[in-house]
Amino acid sequence: MAPKTVLQLSGVERHYGQGETTLSILKGADFDLKTGEIVALVAPSGTGKSTLLHLAGLLEHPDAGEVFLAGHACNGLPDAERTAMRRNQIGFVYQFHHLLPEFSAVENIMMPQLIAGLSKAEAKERAAQLLDYMRIGHRAEHRPSELSGGEQQRVAIARAVANAPRVLLADEPTGNLDPKTASYVFDALEALVRQSGLAALIATHNHDLASRMDRRVTIEGGKVVEM
Ligand code: ADP
Ligand code: MG
Repeated sequence: MAPKTVLQLSGVERHYGQGETTLSILKGADFDLKTGEIVALVAPSGTGKSTLLHLAGLLEHPDAGEVFLAGHACNGLPDAERTAMRRNQIGFVYQFHHLLPEFSAVENIMMPQLIAGLSKAEAKERAAQLLDYMRIGHRAEHRPSELSGGEQQRVAIARAVANAPRVLLADEPTGNLDPKTASYVFDALEALVRQSGLAALIATHNHDLASRMDRRVTIEGGKVVEM
């Protein structure tokens, strides 16, 4: 089956008002992400990487243009439908893991599934599979504070994909890790995307990792351009 576009940004604009002036971050950005693809978003700080990811992840509304997820225009959707789209179609990973400290690794991965209505047994089975897949099955019962930075990020990635989203958005997910650990985390992420037909857009400053992705894009003059 030919890869399909799962995420499309079309003519997206984002402007921030700062007192008298307006800061234009995105000025008609176009971007396509296809199933099975991992794309690096590499651009200097302050150019709008996080802004772009937040718009793509339906966490913010664009000032103009449209975001399509699995072919659906998302901007005009009622809030409840946007939230449902975000929960079902998008997984988000941040630079810091944001795992719940009181809960074990496996419980952290169960949480979004329980919220989505799965039974405890179903959620636990899927969480255990994901932990195995990320090669940290033996760490399942440990709390985040008992895990290494690389393990914490792999749990965060497993949690982000727990509800089988179509798109994984990651905002400098290895920005807080040493190069070797970053590579190790990326290995797990890559295997996951390849085997599950997910698609990923990953903001990173790590050029070694970016070179291992399928494509690299940057932000120039408020637009997304191929590198
Ligand atoms: P990056 O992730 O590439 O570092 P961001 O998307 O975080 O860039 O930010 C791009 C620019 O937009 C920065 O100059 C930042 O200060 C500005 N910005 C981001 N969010 C806001 C906001 N809510 N209000 C005003 N300015 C913002
Ligand atoms: Mg950022």
